[in-house]
Amino acid sequence: MLYNTDAVVVKTVRYGEHSAIVTLLTPSGLVSAMAKGALKPQSRLAAGTRLCAEGTYFLYQGHGMGDIRQVQLTASRRRLHEDIEAAAYAAYFCDLALVSTPERPHAPTAMYNQFSAVLAALELRDQTPPDLLARVYEAKICNWLGASPDWGRCIRCTQPLVPPIAYHLKEGGLVCGVCRSDMDRTAEFVVPERTGRLLSVFTEVDVRRLGRIEVSPPTRRALDTILSHQLREFAGLHGRAKDVLDQIVQSLRFD
Ligand SMILES: [Zn+2]
Repeated sequence: MLYNTDAVVVKTVRYGEHSAIVTLLTPSGLVSAMAKGALKPQSRLAAGTRLCAEGTYFLYQGHGMGDIRQVQLTASRRRLHEDIEAAAYAAYFCDLALVSTPERPHAPTAMYNQFSAVLAALELRDQTPPDLLARVYEAKICNWLGASPDWGRCIRCTQPLVPPIAYHLKEGGLVCGVCRSDMDRTAEFVVPERTGRLLSVFTEVDVRRLGRIEVSPPTRRALDTILSHQLREFAGLHGRAKDVLDQIVQSLRFD
């Protein structure tokens, strides 16, 4: 069967001397396919097998793994390969997509649309700093995997949050100033007041309409800590990709 689908490359592995096995994120989920001869210098498939490349993929599906026959690229995402920091974030986003998205045809279209928009925003770099883009994408993944509380409300009393608010590590959510007093103080840490509002916005916002966001360093740190913890402990994502990203971003900062 021949079919075509929009897709973004989220993983590519060399196979044999000249071929690659590519994992594509499509609007209905992940699919792996062989790109025969893609690593030969003159291959028409070469550009379409690079990480983050996006376009229309023409696939032949027989028994077993499909073959990529042709690619019409809509975005090569070349800039994501030319800048170390952008490349590190792109690799992290691809890894998150890979471990969180169901296989075709079980994923909601939003997982594709929002991922594509995150890569486009990372490439443009005009509005949203990459670390905040990462938080937006992480918040959405938490939500898609059912690991996201209502960030606008206290997880104990379900009322809108009254400061000082805290993040509760064991319960995976924010607690209000009233409920905090009788909780285990070793399992929570106080976060800036805006944290809950921002987490709600990040979960809901369509990345294609993401405007300028200004966030203070303490709030950025809180968002990073909360979402890392939430992804690891409540969404069950244990990848090393975040550690690798953090190391690269750290090393660039001390240059
Ligand atoms: Zn409460």
